Amino acid sequence: MPEEDNNGLPTNIGLVGSHVHTLKLARVVAETDDARSLVFEIPVELSTRFAYEPGQFLTLRIPSERTGSVARSYSLSSSPFADDELTVTVKRTIDGYASNWLCDNAAAGLELEVLQPSGMFVPKNLDTDLLLIAAGSGVTPVMSILKSALLKGSAKVTLIYANRDEGSVIFAEELRDLQAKHPDRLSIIHWIQSLQGLPSQTTLGALAAPFHERDAFICGPGPFMAAAETALKTDLGMPHARVHVEVFQSIDGDPFAEIVLNDLTAEEEADAAQVEVILDGETHNFAWPRNTKLLDLLLSKGLDAPFSCRQGACSACACIVTEGDVSMLINEVLEPEDIADGIRLGCQSLPLTDIVKVSYDE
Ligand SMILES: Cc1cc2nc3c(=O)[nH]c(=O)nc-3n(C[C@H](O)[C@H](O)[C@H](O)COP(=O)(O)OP(=O)(O)OC[C@H]3O[C@@H](n4cnc5c(N)ncnc54)[C@H](O)[C@@H]3O)c2cc1C
Repeated sequence: MPEEDNNGLPTNIGLVGSHVHTLKLARVVAETDDARSLVFEIPVELSTRFAYEPGQFLTLRIPSERTGSVARSYSLSSSPFADDELTVTVKRTIDGYASNWLCDNAAAGLELEVLQPSGMFVPKNLDTDLLLIAAGSGVTPVMSILKSALLKGSAKVTLIYANRDEGSVIFAEELRDLQAKHPDRLSIIHWIQSLQGLPSQTTLGALAAPFHERDAFICGPGPFMAAAETALKTDLGMPHARVHVEVFQSIDGDPFAEIVLNDLTAEEEADAAQVEVILDGETHNFAWPRNTKLLDLLLSKGLDAPFSCRQGACSACACIVTEGDVSMLINEVLEPEDIADGIRLGCQSLPLTDIVKVSYDE
């Protein structure tokens, strides 16, 4: 029988269990009519595990009477440099389950199971000028990047920020304060759809044109992101490596579920590939059974390999293959340019060659 926590959810132990932590909400802040910020208390003993980079996200386990629980990722809107607590900001999705559950039920003292911070929507350095393009709840990771760059870096930051109407602008006041504090480094271009219509590819391209030599970070609803990404890459000719996108989508599977490794036959053991893995500055060598996913192998060896959705949709587990190759069972997130750069999803990778070298540190 699995242990029960106070939300009635089974507590995982084993391979995944060390990545799952129960955190308590310190408070909940109503940002707009349909968005709430959830501020988590981080016990001192977990402060290293919950260290994060601007732009990363947490994955929460939300109770459900129907399915036991659902998992959803929420970007951290707090900055590791500006804020002591970890905050995610959740906007209600029409007919959505988890976002409405959280907006209705989250209150100080609520305990939730949470996976450690992860994600690749992170600026390489905070001194390179930034172009941030967000719509609606897409401002959440962008806010973390913006605050971090202003406080910790020397970058100039421009935010193009689209919203349905003035009342739905999340962080409106905080952004006004930041602009007043950093008039020479922060510029904000608001786009209000009720007054100006939907922002088109042409509009976004025109707004972004003066900043086309910067590193760009885009987050928002699908059609908005597609318009912004095409404007930057196709119309303004920005290189793929300088245009970063964060796709918000719900997780279908259960990344909190325990990993079950298949028993190997003697033949499968003898047929295993060899993998060298660089993770957190250390090099490890393992036999890699052909039917075992890289993430599962590394967790089974006690390594702290990163992951979130475990279904090839979020890139939290991305690594670089430096020698040999792997095949991915599912890839819903890496683009052809990423694949050409050697990036692969650890949660979906099986060995293709007899020897594979992989780095999580680059
Ligand atoms: C990296 C990342 C970062 C993100 N950051 C943010 C963020 O900062 N802010 C934000 O608001 N969103 C963010 N999202 C999006 C967020 O994870 C969710 O996709 C979003 O909140 C919608 O989830 P939802 O459950 O409300 O809606 P849906 O996923 O649309 O809900 C419908 C789904 O829930 C199921 N369902 C319905 N009722 C039940 C029930 N009773 N029990 C179980 N299942 C049920 C349905 O079958 C259906 O699959 C992010 C996503 C990703 C991947």
